Amino acid sequence: MQDCLFCRIASGAIPAPRLHEDARCIAIADIAPKAPVHLLVIPIEHIASASGVDEAREGLAGHLVRVAADLARERGLEAGGYRLVLNHGPQAGQTVFHLHLHLLGGRDLGAMG
Ligand code: 5GP
Ligand code: ZN
Repeated sequence: MQDCLFCRIASGAIPAPRLHEDARCIAIADIAPKAPVHLLVIPIEHIASASGVDEAREGLAGHLVRVAADLARERGLEAGGYRLVLNHGPQAGQTVFHLHLHLLGGRDLGAMG
């Protein structure tokens, strides 16, 4: 999708340092970090949000979680803890309509609410 920011980042049309890259996803640093570690794990395929994760894409969703957990472990977040967030729609504050998993950590993130 030519007008999708994360498609453009995934294709390399917009440069962004890749902290992880494989055939199915990339990981980049969030441009406006909400925690000392704030990464985005982004599938290369355009999927608008969690509601686009159909049966054929279940494996991809699990892959994003595994990559995020590996990145968290590499950054020393395993013991202290971290949060994975996947926003869908306006009440969750989704602003980029290409599926992405936030990895947040490096500080006390508090309770959800
Ligand atoms: P959402 O609220 O849609 O789940 O999160 C979108 C995230 O993308 C936000 O945390 C925002 O800071 C991040 N973001 C928006 N534009 C860019 C960009 O051009 N580059 C990077 N690295 N992150 C971006
Ligand atoms: Zn896209």
